[in-house]
Amino acid sequence: MSAPITFDNSYGQLPANFYTRQALQPVTKPSLIKVNLDLAHQLGVDPTWLQTKDATQVFAGNALLPGADPLATVYAGFQFGNWNPQLGDGRALLLGEVLTDTGQRFDLQLKGSGPTHYSRGGDGRSPLGPVLREYLVSEAMNALGVPTTRALAAVTTGEPVYREQQEPGGVLTRVASSHIRFGSFQYFSGEQDQASLRRLADYTIDRHYPDLQASEQPYLALLNQVIEQIAQLIAKWQCLGFIHGVMNTDNMLITGETVDYGPCAFMDTFKQATVYSAIDQQGRYAYQNQPAIAHWNLMTLAQALLPLLHDNEDVAIEQAKAALQTFPDRFDDHYNAHSADKLGLTPSKVSRALFSEFLALLETHELDFTNSFSGLADRLESKTPLLPTDDWQQWMAQWHAALQDSQDKPAARHRMQQANPYVIPRNHLIEHAIQQAYSEGRFDQFDALLEAVTRPFDPELARSRFAQAPASDEIVKRTFCGT
Ligand code: AMP
Ligand code: MG
Repeated sequence: MSAPITFDNSYGQLPANFYTRQALQPVTKPSLIKVNLDLAHQLGVDPTWLQTKDATQVFAGNALLPGADPLATVYAGFQFGNWNPQLGDGRALLLGEVLTDTGQRFDLQLKGSGPTHYSRGGDGRSPLGPVLREYLVSEAMNALGVPTTRALAAVTTGEPVYREQQEPGGVLTRVASSHIRFGSFQYFSGEQDQASLRRLADYTIDRHYPDLQASEQPYLALLNQVIEQIAQLIAKWQCLGFIHGVMNTDNMLITGETVDYGPCAFMDTFKQATVYSAIDQQGRYAYQNQPAIAHWNLMTLAQALLPLLHDNEDVAIEQAKAALQTFPDRFDDHYNAHSADKLGLTPSKVSRALFSEFLALLETHELDFTNSFSGLADRLESKTPLLPTDDWQQWMAQWHAALQDSQDKPAARHRMQQANPYVIPRNHLIEHAIQQAYSEGRFDQFDALLEAVTRPFDPELARSRFAQAPASDEIVKRTFCGT
């Protein structure tokens, strides 16, 4: 039989100061929860093998496939604005990379697989709850069209993990275009190790942005490219009501994929200042702050890249500043485009104003973000306002006027149905799925929720329980990293 996964590792070819090789740390009694057959297909991983006991052993970190080369990578980061010169994969292990038929390269990483050189006293493990949560939310994000890391498999370890209470342990197999973070560059910048910094930049360009090699200033082009990717990403988050919760620079990928589904959450009732993360006491990573935080994070990335931009520091700073100044407009362009889609309009000053006004009304009347948008398509023909109030009636009249000006109704409906999901991974449903796993050791709620969140735009689900806002006693107000 051919190998179930063919590895083609490149990160481990980089110099030894980029990572620490790490032996596996087996768990006593692994058991499979879920494998992602669609993703396996995309990766060229044998789907039949995926469901075998052998595969479970691999996903638990108990067995090594031929060609895997487990290592923990080093990075640094600004956490809640504070510089931390050395972090690294403290509870994750890069097994290796796969190269698909279409030439795409992906990291395969175990998360929760035990302590590494970078664990800083932590146990390197993950409770089952965060594993289930990441599986659900990352796969939902993918289905919603948001760049993201994926989930290939989830297993229980059969071992307890000790947090505030004892919890069952789990391991997630995470797939990403790579795990190169802003913090990966910042580590070498902090070490004042320019050679490694350059090496990482070259590797990143080669792996992710090969077109930039032809650029006159490839490192400046890299910075510009990352600014663009992040502008696209955050615009999508904002238009879906997604709150990341820990936008530290070690949690920002250079590819602009969403990573680190810790205390993240989709909003139910809309409020600009919403914060879910229990540790974000200042509200630094509140919904409304995400674009500005992304900009700040890009500024710290640019700072790390300065020595690569130009030998003359003043020139380098000018170039970085000019690049960073493009972020607000880039973000606005993407945000305008998505927000216009959500209203079935073409982007313009009018669509932008209507969108802002809509959000303000949601906040005033404490309405559900997702369902208010998905309910709009039904109002293309009727002028029934979301609520029978003057302000809503006025908004509806203005929206209908804009629709008349812009385009035909079927086209508008189509745009809206592609932009306004019926189903998001609602916090209370995630909680229910986790509770069932903890109390009964069963995953049928998890399975059903996963099935629903990976069909977010399916009108068949519009009236299902997955599309309903939480009842008042179900509302989740706080989320936790769970680390
Ligand atoms: P996070 O805020 O979840 O992105 O984690 C920040 C850093 O803490 C990363 O370097 C993690 O690898 C590390 N970390 C988080 N939880 C653990 C844990 N249970 N054991 C070891 N390291 C951890
Ligand atoms: Mg992290």
